[in-house]
Amino acid sequence: MVVDKTVNIKEFNRNRIYMLLRQEKNLSKQDIVQHLQISLPTITQNLNYLLQEKLIANTGKIGNTGGRNAQVYSYISDAKIAIGLDITRNHVTTVVVDLNGDIIHINRRRQKFETSDPYFQLLGNIIQEDIKELDIDDSKILGVGIGVPGLITEDHQTVFYGKILNFTGETLQRFTKYIPYPAILVNDANAAGFSEIWATPDTKNAFYISLSNNIGGAVYIGNKVFAGENQKSGEIGHITIIPDGLPCYCGQKGCLEAYCSASLLADTADGSLGRFFEEVQGGNREKLIVWDNYLRHLSIAINNIRMLFDCDIILGGYVGAYMENYIDTLKKLVASRNTFEDHADYVRICSYKTEAIAAGAALPFIDQFINQI
Ligand SMILES: [Zn+2]
Repeated sequence: MVVDKTVNIKEFNRNRIYMLLRQEKNLSKQDIVQHLQISLPTITQNLNYLLQEKLIANTGKIGNTGGRNAQVYSYISDAKIAIGLDITRNHVTTVVVDLNGDIIHINRRRQKFETSDPYFQLLGNIIQEDIKELDIDDSKILGVGIGVPGLITEDHQTVFYGKILNFTGETLQRFTKYIPYPAILVNDANAAGFSEIWATPDTKNAFYISLSNNIGGAVYIGNKVFAGENQKSGEIGHITIIPDGLPCYCGQKGCLEAYCSASLLADTADGSLGRFFEEVQGGNREKLIVWDNYLRHLSIAINNIRMLFDCDIILGGYVGAYMENYIDTLKKLVASRNTFEDHADYVRICSYKTEAIAAGAALPFIDQFINQI
C-alpha cells in the first residue's frame, strides 16, 4: 500500500509539472517551485524524466538569479501527435493535431466512400502521405481516430447503424487494414462534441448539435459523453419536429433531419452552402424564406434540448460555421419558446470552425496521453 501511494504521488507530481509547462510554455526550476510548492530535487528528477522522454526541452537560459543564469525548460507541443479522419459520402479529410489539440495539418480530398479494399488502402496511403509530408517519426504517433456518420459500439470496433453510408456492420479492423497505428472508430457528432468540450474546459455540461448534411448530436455531462444504454443518445436528428411531416431517410416522418440538414439549404443554391449564405446576406427573398424556416425548426429542437438538460447548447457542423450573423435571431426564436427563461444565452457557436469531427476523433489519444504522463 505504501509503495502504491509513493508511486501515485510521484506520478501526480510529474503530471502537475508537465501540465504547468504545457500551460506556461517556458519555466525555470525556481518558477516551478513557486507555482507548485514541490521540492527542488523532486522537480529536477521529474524534469530529467521529461527531458529523457523528449516531451520537454532545455531551451537555454534566462535572467540572472544570484549571479547564475537560470536554465529554462520548455514544453514541446509536437512531441506526440494524433491523426483524425472525417469520413463522409464524398470526402476524406485527415488532420494532424499536436499535444495542444491544435490542428497542424489538414488534407481534404474528394473521394467517394465505398466499403472496398482499395478504399481502405487509400485511407492508409493518405495517412502515410501526411506523415511523410510533415516528416513525422512513427514513435510520435499516438493513434488514429476515424470519425464516421454512424453509430459505433462501445468498444469503438463496429458500426452498428450506418444507414447514411450504407455501412452497417463495418469494422475497425477493415478500416485499419492499412493503418499500422492504434485506432478507434468514433461517431462523427460525438467526435465534434468532444473537440468542443476539450477547447472549452469550463464547459462541463453541454449538448452539441452537428448541423451538417446529416444532423447529429452528443450529450456531455460532467465533461463525459453520455452515450446512453445502447450508444444511441443525443440523436437529435430524429426527434419529431412536425408530426407526420416531411419524410426522413430513416423511414420516419417529420424528423429534424428533414428540416435542418445543411444540404437542404445548399440544394437551393446549386449545391453550395457558401453561395446560399451569400444570397441570404444579399437579401434574396426566396433564400430568406428558406433560412427563416430553417431557424424556426431549429429553434424547436433547441428549446426541447434546453427543457430536457438545462445545459449549454453548442451549434456546430457546416451550418454552425455560418451561424455568426444569425445567432441573435436564432436566440430570439428560442427564447420565445422557453417556459422559464426570457433569453437564450445558453446557445452558442462552436469554437472549432472547421474540421471539428476529424480533430475530435484524434483528441481522445491526446487527452489520454497528457493525462497519463
Ligand atoms: Zn429520421
